[in-house]
Amino acid sequence: MHNAEIRVDLDAVRANVALLKAGTTAEVMAVVKADGYGHGMVPCARAALAGGATWIGVATLDEALALRAAGITAPVLAWLLSPGLPLAEGVAADVDLSVASRTQLAELVAAARSVGRAARVHLKVDSGLGRGGAATTDWPGLVEAAAKAAADGDLDVVGVWSHLANSDVPDHPSIDLQVESFTDAVDVAARLGVTPRYRHLANSGATLTRPDTHFDLVRPGIAVYGLSPVVGQRFGLRPAMTLRASVMLAKRLPAGQGVSYGHAYVTKSETTVAVIPLGYADGIPRAASGLAPVAVGGAVLPIAGRVCMDQFVVDVGDRPVRAGDPAVLFGTGGPHVDEWAAVCGTINYEIVARMGQRIPRVYD
Ligand code: PLP
Repeated sequence: MHNAEIRVDLDAVRANVALLKAGTTAEVMAVVKADGYGHGMVPCARAALAGGATWIGVATLDEALALRAAGITAPVLAWLLSPGLPLAEGVAADVDLSVASRTQLAELVAAARSVGRAARVHLKVDSGLGRGGAATTDWPGLVEAAAKAAADGDLDVVGVWSHLANSDVPDHPSIDLQVESFTDAVDVAARLGVTPRYRHLANSGATLTRPDTHFDLVRPGIAVYGLSPVVGQRFGLRPAMTLRASVMLAKRLPAGQGVSYGHAYVTKSETTVAVIPLGYADGIPRAASGLAPVAVGGAVLPIAGRVCMDQFVVDVGDRPVRAGDPAVLFGTGGPHVDEWAAVCGTINYEIVARMGQRIPRVYD
């Protein structure tokens, strides 16, 4: 045991992907960007593929190239591409790339020519999220340019895709509107002679609750790791991450002693405090100060006072806690990460994705 560790249950990742796969006729793209939402990109990609995913999704080209360097041969889509990236490396590594503008398309065509092979591309339309993707007014022009590049042998248009704004609210009216807009964009592409094998729209929320969004491929991320995007619903998913620490120091303090920076917590009576060697530099939100629950000494107790850069304190009362005893912040044997998200005023995604690289990942 280190000062602290993140245990990642890869069986849970496999089981979660199998559960998602069982709920759809579409193929599954497991999204492993941001180091697998903090769980470890490569091990989670392998576990997801073992669980039935046939695609891997990432944000950046670097992430896609790291997957290839690790020997992952499944189709990989990368979708966050600023100008000037070494797209040729992506084409040479058989990475599928997302394109949302004619400028991006031209860059990709140049990369394909430099490598001497057709680039695999997914054309992205903004069906209503208002973030990435071509505006619907620019869509026909983008598709026409892609059709021409495909005819020239520079591109292989593998997919047409989009992303949802409100799939964490399963009956949100914008989902219907986005499905309609996406379907229109697919029809426009077909009229212009572009009929790719994969149409994809759904992230975890839509994969779990909206079969009408599944099309040919779904792109779950958070659910792969056993967490739900829909507050209050768990869908039988198994959380993969457990954050544990070893109590660094346990000591008695008198009544009336201020604890941690600012003395935001003051002991009410003589008590034992346990010092936990994790802090905001490790991704423990400072907003967890005084609030977030920790399992230690056979009880679940709130953080006492402020979270510091590398440590925080729990008041364990008269429980016989000693240095070296385990403390579970969330996961198996402790609170659910959703409880941390709730008290910190954030979402489970942010808690797990921000876990720092200083904490070793241990794979079960
Ligand atoms: N697809 C795209 C384009 C994304 O950016 C993301 C993540 O934000 C996902 C899919 C996966 O989303 P979720 O983690 O909500 O399943």
